[in-house]
Amino acid sequence: MRQDPWLNTLVHIVESRQSRPNLPSDKCPFCVGGLEAAQPYKIKSLVNRWPAMSDNRCEVVLYTSEHNSSLADLSVEDITELVDLWASRTVALMSRQDVQSVLIFENRGREVGATIDHPHGQIYAFDHVPQRTVQRLKNKWNPDSDQQRRFVEHDGWAAWVISAPIYPVSIEIAPPNQIANLTALSSKERTSFATILKDVLQRLDRLFESKTPYMMWINQDAKNYSDTWLNVEIISPWRDKDVSRYIAAAEVATGEFFNPVNPEDLAKRLRSLTS
Ligand SMILES: [Zn+2]
Repeated sequence: MRQDPWLNTLVHIVESRQSRPNLPSDKCPFCVGGLEAAQPYKIKSLVNRWPAMSDNRCEVVLYTSEHNSSLADLSVEDITELVDLWASRTVALMSRQDVQSVLIFENRGREVGATIDHPHGQIYAFDHVPQRTVQRLKNKWNPDSDQQRRFVEHDGWAAWVISAPIYPVSIEIAPPNQIANLTALSSKERTSFATILKDVLQRLDRLFESKTPYMMWINQDAKNYSDTWLNVEIISPWRDKDVSRYIAAAEVATGEFFNPVNPEDLAKRLRSLTS
């Protein structure tokens, strides 16, 4: 890992990933009978064959054996089972001496770099707490502050469009009370989480009447941090159907962003997209 001398940005040099196949040549590796799934399964996690970090720090989570499904299409019961799996992998990885923080995430769609269409997510177990995660963990937020851009609630869990989004679509989901990590969620809370996650992802697909590409990740506590509040971030580069917004020169140069989508308008649209 390198650190940029000007900005302190951390960069992992992962030459080995250059040799990973861009697209599997013949059969989907995640379908039953494929390279990573010899036996029938419902959901499962496995060590990433093309890891971005060494020491089994990178895992893949297969959401379903159905190739053409998606997280939004799964039943609330099945998503709850996925939340259970995320929680148990968090416990297992955090119990390692050489792990400080666990990131659960998904890249859905070719536009955000997913090389395999089969519904899946990933887990990275870091030996440090990444800078952005530290920032998120340190800054305490007031859930009432985003009220006007809130577009859906389930059992107190809320989803809203953030006020200063870098990407055209930037959504957060959080529980009504301070819960540090997935492990601490009760079974009822896991069902509530699954319910709102499904609802939000379905609205995202209705937004452009298409499988909207997105990146999703879960912010949860890390070793030596307390008083943290679990939340989920979901972003899409699409500003319209099949139209991605690119972060361009003035933005890369300055770290200031120019977003063509008004967050309040987006919240209004998402509010209207009930099933
Ligand atoms: Zn498949």
